[in-house]
Amino acid sequence: MPEGHTIHRLAKDLNKTLKPGPLTASSPQGRFAEGAELLDGRELNKATAWGKHLFLDIDGAPPVHIHLGLIGKFRRKKLDAPIRGAIRLRLEGPERLWDLTGPMVCDVVDGDDVDRITSELGPDPLRADGDPDEFARRLGRRRIAIAAALLDQKVIAGVGNVYRSEFCFLMGIRPDLPANQVPHDVVSEMWDLSVAQLTQGVRLNRITTRDPAEVGVAAGRISGDDRLYVYKRDGRPCHRCGDEIRLLEIGQRKAWFCPSCQT
Ligand SMILES: [Zn+2]
Repeated sequence: MPEGHTIHRLAKDLNKTLKPGPLTASSPQGRFAEGAELLDGRELNKATAWGKHLFLDIDGAPPVHIHLGLIGKFRRKKLDAPIRGAIRLRLEGPERLWDLTGPMVCDVVDGDDVDRITSELGPDPLRADGDPDEFARRLGRRRIAIAAALLDQKVIAGVGNVYRSEFCFLMGIRPDLPANQVPHDVVSEMWDLSVAQLTQGVRLNRITTRDPAEVGVAAGRISGDDRLYVYKRDGRPCHRCGDEIRLLEIGQRKAWFCPSCQT
């Protein structure tokens, strides 16, 4: 599933390529035909993101709520791109078009729905209103493993399976440490880390957590197995200490860690 940085990058790119000017909106697959009709011929005011949720504010039309879920894709294409696959929503701007396929959610909603959806989400480190104290409060109330709490979108919005394992490594804590036992200074550092890491994720449009100083090249040029410390690296040597990266099941999801660096 795409993590928050992907959705924020998407919002940024939609704003960059679909403005200004009226949009042509359609639903080639047909499942969003009525919704697309409401958007057709209108202008995009702003695309915004909160965690893994994307909202389109289109002038004179109701808000659109999109969640990509596990397999959804929202892809930028050239204006003459052929219709391929089940395209739920096609938005065509002056220079580019965007095709949405396989979303978990693509709905026309109203302002109250947007408030309800976002009020159920925890603070988002990529948003200006992301509140570190709120993160600390929500985390401190959970007794579940820190790695499970980081996946809970009510605790922090936008973190997924890659970032959660990497954050625990970078903070030097085991992923199965109960969330309410994580020391205060670590919680506050973890928020700052998530702001920095997700911001970099938006810029690079992918997740690279390695310290460029360790690799000897800029973050954007780190590739392959060098990009991450632990995610999907079980059985391989830790980039920092050489110990073997291990795998844990936490809440039916896999989490990776280094037994020497995370104690
Ligand atoms: Zn290590």
